[in-house]
Amino acid sequence: MPTPRLAVRCGRFYNGSAEPPRSNVTLVIADGRIEQIVANDAPVEADRTLEAAAVTPGLINCHVHLEFSGEPDIGVTLLTSPVSKGLTAAANARRSLEAGITTVRDLGAAEGSAIEMRDAIAAGSHTGPTIVPAGRALCMTGGHGYFIGRQTDGPWDARKAVREQLRAGAECIKLIATGGVLTKGAVPGQDQLSEEEMHAAVVEAHTHGMRVAAHAIGTKGIKNALRAGVDSIEHGHLLDDEAIELFARTGAYLVPTLCAPTRILEHVSDGKQPAFVIRKAEELMTAMRTNITRAYRAGVPIAGGSDAGTPYNYHADYAYEVELMNTLLGMTPRGALHAATATASRLLGVDAGLLEPGRPADLLLLAGDLETDTLALRAPRAVIKTGAVAAMRDSG
Ligand SMILES: [Zn+2]
Repeated sequence: MPTPRLAVRCGRFYNGSAEPPRSNVTLVIADGRIEQIVANDAPVEADRTLEAAAVTPGLINCHVHLEFSGEPDIGVTLLTSPVSKGLTAAANARRSLEAGITTVRDLGAAEGSAIEMRDAIAAGSHTGPTIVPAGRALCMTGGHGYFIGRQTDGPWDARKAVREQLRAGAECIKLIATGGVLTKGAVPGQDQLSEEEMHAAVVEAHTHGMRVAAHAIGTKGIKNALRAGVDSIEHGHLLDDEAIELFARTGAYLVPTLCAPTRILEHVSDGKQPAFVIRKAEELMTAMRTNITRAYRAGVPIAGGSDAGTPYNYHADYAYEVELMNTLLGMTPRGALHAATATASRLLGVDAGLLEPGRPADLLLLAGDLETDTLALRAPRAVIKTGAVAAMRDSG
C-alpha cells in the first residue's frame, strides 16, 4: 500500500541549513520524499494535512551507544547477556525515533545489536532511526572501552580489525585514541592507540568507504588522530591551538558530546556512580567548555552527538545536547540545530538532515518556534520518517 500524500503547513520552516528560517510554508511529501515546498496559500493535493508551529529536519545523533540506556554504573550493564543487550538496543532505537531522532551513529557495542537493529528496521520488523553502526571500537589491549572494543596492537592488526568490522556489517569505524571517563584506570589525557596504528586503520577504512571517528580527550591523542586522517574527533575536551590548526588542515569535524560529563555531574548526589567516574568528569568539565568554545569560534565544524547511553544520558534526551550547544558554546538555537542536522549528515555521509525538494522526508513538527521556545525540540508534536508518521502526540 503506498503511503498517503502528506501536506505539512507550518509557521516557521527550518530546513537544517545555516540560512534563516522561512515563514508560512507548506511541505508536500510523497513516496518518502519532499516533493515540493510552497507558500501556505498555494493549492496543494494531499490525502492528509498536518499543522505545526515549526518544522525542522529529524535530528541526527552522531554518537550513541544503543546497548546502554544511561544506567549510573555502566559496569553493571556490561554483565548482562547478549540477548538482553539486543533487547535494550531495540528499546533505545524505538525511544530515539519517538523523540525525533531519525538517524544515529552507534560508536561501539559489545555485541552486534546496532548492526542487527539496522537490518531489522530496514526489514520493517522493528521501528527506529536510520542506524550507522561502527561495530566494536578499535582500542589498544586493555585500553579505554575494551569491553566494547576489538583490542588491537600494531598497524597490520589494526587493518585486520577494520576488516573484521566490515565483515560484521559495520558502516564506519571507531578508534580509541586516548583514555576515557568510564573505564576504571584509563587516564583521559593519555594517548592510547598510536598515530601509526590509527593511520593504518584509517587507510583501510577509507579504502572500503567507511568514515572514521576517534574517541580523543587528551591533547596529544587528539593531534595523533587528526594527523592519522580521522574524519571526526569525539569529545576533544583537551584540544589546543595546534589541534585547531590540524582540524582546519584536515577538514575533520568535532563531535563535542557535551551531555556526557554534564549529565554525570548533574547526578552526583544520587550516590550511584563510581567515584572514579565523577572525579574524571569534574576534571574535564571546565576545560571542555573553554576549549570547545574556542574551536567553534575558530571555525572547526561542529556536528551534534551526545554519547547517549552513558550515565543519565538517555537516548530520547538528545534535544538537551542541542540546548547545551546553545547555552555552553554560544551557538544560536538555529546554529545548534544546523550542527545536529545538516552538518551531522555531512559527517556521516547520509542523505538526511536537509529538507529540500527531492530529499528524504525525515522531519519534526514542533508546537513552538525554536527561536522563541528553545525547549520546543524536547517534545515534537509529530515525527515523520521517510514520509510516514512514525510518532504523534495528541495535541491536547
Ligand atoms: Zn561514546
